Amino acid sequence: MSRDRFGRPPRRPWSLSDEQREAMVAMRQTGATYALVGRTFGISDVAASATIRNRIAGRLRGGRPNTAEDFWDRVEPEPNTGCWIWVGYRLKSGYGNFAFHGTIPAHRFAYQLLRGPIPEGLTLDHYICNFPPCVNPWHTEPVPLSVNIARAKARRTGCRRGGHPYDKVWQSATNPKDRRRFCSVCDRENKRASVRRLRLQKQSATA
Ligand SMILES: [Zn+2]
Ligand SMILES: [Zn+2]
Repeated sequence: MSRDRFGRPPRRPWSLSDEQREAMVAMRQTGATYALVGRTFGISDVAASATIRNRIAGRLRGGRPNTAEDFWDRVEPEPNTGCWIWVGYRLKSGYGNFAFHGTIPAHRFAYQLLRGPIPEGLTLDHYICNFPPCVNPWHTEPVPLSVNIARAKARRTGCRRGGHPYDKVWQSATNPKDRRRFCSVCDRENKRASVRRLRLQKQSATA
């Protein structure tokens, strides 16, 4: 079997037939590791794991692909803000993902469904609510990525992690361009966490 430059098997799960996918699930259910299943079918362990889990999830859904109605099952309107909140799968960034001929960000799906195509190369800015899980297409506007980033930066009043207010703009002595803003609340939490980690390390070393 050919390998890529990292020595891994090629990742080509899309070339697998339905029978092969079923065989992968069966193999996994007899206790084979994802790595072994992947090796057998010529794909990586990560791809094998995803293929098998998707197959099982599809079976739970009755084996049919998502429709537009499935999309609205995962949307809950928020009466106070007017946001339509995505309650389906969310990325770490807060944006929703919807499986529809591949994976598509939920807010982009809603926009194209209700307002039409998004001009090529443009991103959707949540210019009304600044709330990534919102899929209300009248809360988003197609803008170039640079504009989206600039607006997001201008809107940001607190740290990204918890929205704590910034306490200072730190000025580097060596790099005048470094204008990073630091959050005192997050700083304190990070320091406490590292102390806790060290203490645990010491405990497990002496134990
Ligand atoms: Zn909204
Ligand atoms: Zn913070």
